[in-house]
Amino acid sequence: MIGATVATSCVAAASWQLASASSVFDQKSRASGMDEPLVDERTTSAIQTCLDARSDALMRGDRQAFVATIDQRNPTWRRIQGDVLDLSARGGWGPAAVYSPVRLQEKPLGYVKAFLEVSPSRGMAPAERTAWVFSRQVDGTVLHAEPTNDELGMRQTTPIGSVVLSHYDWDADIIDRVAAVAQTAWARVSSIIVMPETIRPIISLNPTYAAHSGLRGFSTWAAYLPGSLNTVLLRSLESFGAGPVPISETEDTRLLIPLTHELTHLANDCILSIVKIPHWMSEGLAEYVADNFRTREFALAVASNRQWSLDKASEIIEWGSDVSRGYTANDVSLAYAHASHGTRYFMERFGIARFWELARDFASSRRWSESFQTVTGVSWSDFGADWFRWSKGIFAEGLTAKGSGVGA
Ligand SMILES: [Zn+2]
Repeated sequence: MIGATVATSCVAAASWQLASASSVFDQKSRASGMDEPLVDERTTSAIQTCLDARSDALMRGDRQAFVATIDQRNPTWRRIQGDVLDLSARGGWGPAAVYSPVRLQEKPLGYVKAFLEVSPSRGMAPAERTAWVFSRQVDGTVLHAEPTNDELGMRQTTPIGSVVLSHYDWDADIIDRVAAVAQTAWARVSSIIVMPETIRPIISLNPTYAAHSGLRGFSTWAAYLPGSLNTVLLRSLESFGAGPVPISETEDTRLLIPLTHELTHLANDCILSIVKIPHWMSEGLAEYVADNFRTREFALAVASNRQWSLDKASEIIEWGSDVSRGYTANDVSLAYAHASHGTRYFMERFGIARFWELARDFASSRRWSESFQTVTGVSWSDFGADWFRWSKGIFAEGLTAKGSGVGA
């Protein structure tokens, strides 16, 4: 499953990450004070009514009432919201998240972007923030919406620093922030992977689900198109697809890890076709560069003697989304954790030059054990045993101190 980033709930705070990530308060103050009066009470109240109707419909499992809150003109949007409903149905109906608009921003064509606080259920304090778009109706009500492809119009390309943004006018209000995230991500990738030539990646920004079919699901924030050698798809900040973020986190930070992960795939593909190397190497490298080790999951697996081989991790990464194999999302996430730690161990022992040497040798030999022995001087099975011992070792301190694993 190259390209898709598995949902990760914890975002490590590594030192290379956005130094200038703005706080919620910065964003609020930046937006207020400019242009038109921000509090349009009638629109705010119409949005609150729509949101309450939506939460109420989800609580009661009332499909018709839910659909009545959705703008029906965009077929992809209709389908996505149908998926939201089905997902809720699977979890069982009951208390639903509650949304409150805290700020509005006018968008083209009568749309309005609403910045929302999300409480897990009524009466509870907000835990997350998100931004949704609403379309104004002639009767003064609003519907939860995404603009259609026709309304988005033509894409534009804007070179900014070391990257190029491919975007719609719709996203004019967020491209500077995306460019900042993209440049932090690309600088990180370039600091670890030496590119054969000057590459300027294109970040294709997608404010809606219909804008690109390459971004699927509710937890895929970025994807690399294998073989493109230059394009990473990214969900727009402040779009439904970008999802909610914890109150204490910024949307900018949320996008940094997936974007770094996918840009690593791009760099990898430029050096050596990504489909020619084992999944634990390609995904492991992407997670290694993004500093997204999923340490807690891995430590628990190691502590309970459930550590898999890297071959097993590759198999789960490859087949994880195939329902017939029966792997869960947790299995897939744990396989990524194995891949990132396997890559880290390889890097510490042999270095990145040998990593590429192994990748190249295997790409031409197609005989893994032989290539591994030739390039590293160690047999693949000995390497596996050494990696198991290393894994036990790196968590030993935390295990004795806390009894169960190390924090992420
Ligand atoms: Zn990946």
